[in-house]
Amino acid sequence: MKVAVVGAGIVGLSAARFLGKRGHRVEVYERFPLFANRGSSHGRTRIVRRAYPDAFYTQCMAEAYPLWGDLERDSGQTLVNEVGLLYFGRRDAPRVVSMVDALQSLAVPHSVLNGVQAKELIPQVRMETNEVAVFTPEAGAVDAAAALRVSHDLARSYGVEFHSGEAADVAKLEREHDAVVLAPGAWIREYVPDLDVRVTLQTYGYVQATIPGPVWIDDESLTYGFPSDDLGQKVGAHLPGPEFDPNQTERIPTQSDLDQISSAVHRRFGVESLRVEHVATCLYTSTPDEDFRIGRLGSKTVFASACSGHGFKLGPWTGRILADIVEGNDSPERHPRFQWPRERGEV
Ligand SMILES: Cc1cc2nc3c(=O)[nH]c(=O)nc-3n(C[C@H](O)[C@H](O)[C@H](O)COP(=O)(O)OP(=O)(O)OC[C@H]3O[C@@H](n4cnc5c(N)ncnc54)[C@H](O)[C@@H]3O)c2cc1C
Repeated sequence: MKVAVVGAGIVGLSAARFLGKRGHRVEVYERFPLFANRGSSHGRTRIVRRAYPDAFYTQCMAEAYPLWGDLERDSGQTLVNEVGLLYFGRRDAPRVVSMVDALQSLAVPHSVLNGVQAKELIPQVRMETNEVAVFTPEAGAVDAAAALRVSHDLARSYGVEFHSGEAADVAKLEREHDAVVLAPGAWIREYVPDLDVRVTLQTYGYVQATIPGPVWIDDESLTYGFPSDDLGQKVGAHLPGPEFDPNQTERIPTQSDLDQISSAVHRRFGVESLRVEHVATCLYTSTPDEDFRIGRLGSKTVFASACSGHGFKLGPWTGRILADIVEGNDSPERHPRFQWPRERGEV
C-alpha cells in the first residue's frame, strides 16, 4: 500500500517504522524541520513505566513496554535507562491503592516501601509516616531524542521517505495515497474539530540537585522527576498549564508552575536551592478522561491523539495500532476506551 503519515512525533514515526518494515511505501510529512521542539515529543527524556493507577493502562503497558526493547534491539542502541519508578503517596490515596491493586492483579513486579526502605534508593527522600513508595523495577527514563532519531533512521532504512518544513494537505494526500495516518499531536483539531481535547503549555526545568536512583512521581502534587544528569534533576508537573494555541511561536514558561515544581521537590527531597534552571516548554493535548483518541476520517484516514501527557511511553504501541488499522487487522472499534466518536465507543 501507499501510505502517508502526517506528523513526525513519536507516534507518527512509530507508525511509519512499522508500516515501512512491513513493506509498504510510506511517506512522512512533518510541518516543521524534523526533530524540532514545537510539538510534544522533543526534549531529553520521558518516563516509561509499567505501573499506572488505572489497570487498563497497566495492561496496555504489558504490550507497550517490550516494544522499547524491540526498538533497542533493532537499532542497536540503548534507549531506556531502566532505573525503576518510585510512586510516592499516602497509603490510602485512591491512585496509590488502585495502582497496587493493578500491579497485583496483573502480576507486575513491585514492592511497597516505607520511608526507610525508600531511602535506600533515594537517600534524600522525605516521607510522612502515612506515606508509601510503590517501587516498580520495570520503569525508567527513555532518551526521547534518541528514540525519535532511531525511529526515523530505522524507518528510512525500510525505505520510508520524509518531507519536512510544510504543513501537509491531507485532502491531497488522500487523493494520492491508499491510506493516510494522522498523528499531528496538538494540531489534531485542525482535522477533527469536535475532538474533546485541550492544548496546554507545560513548563518544566532542572533543579540543581544530585538525586540519584529511580524516576519518581509524587501522587499529591503530581510532580515527577528523573535521575540527575549534567543539567541537574529534570522535574515537571502532570497538571494542565495555560491553554495554548499550538501555532503561537512565543512560548513563555509559566512561573507559577515553576514555583509549584520547586516547592514539591523541596518538600519531598529537602532540596534547598529552589531555583529551576534550563527551563523549557512542551505541549500537552489532553482529553477529559486522559484516554487517547483513535478514529477514522472518511474511508482512507485514521487518526490518533496519544495525549494527556502520557503518550510517549505508549508511542510505539500506538504507532503499531495505527499500522494494524491501515492493514485492516485492527480498528478503532476494538479500542473502546480510545474510539472516537465516543457515541459508539462509550464504556
Ligand atoms: C512536558 C511534557 C512531559 C511529558 N512527559 C511524559 C512522560 O514522562 N511519559 C510519557 O509517556 N509521556 C510524556 N509526555 C507526553 C508525550 O510526550 C506525548 O504524549 C507524545 O510525545 C505525543 O506524541 P505525538 O507523536 O502524538 O505528538 P507530537 O510529538 O506533537 O508530534 C506531532 C507532530 O505532527 C506535526 N504536525 C501537525 N500537523 C501537521 C501537518 N498538517 N503536517 C505535517 N506535520 C504536522 C507536528 O509538527 C508534530 O511534530 C510529556 C509531554 C510533555 C509536554
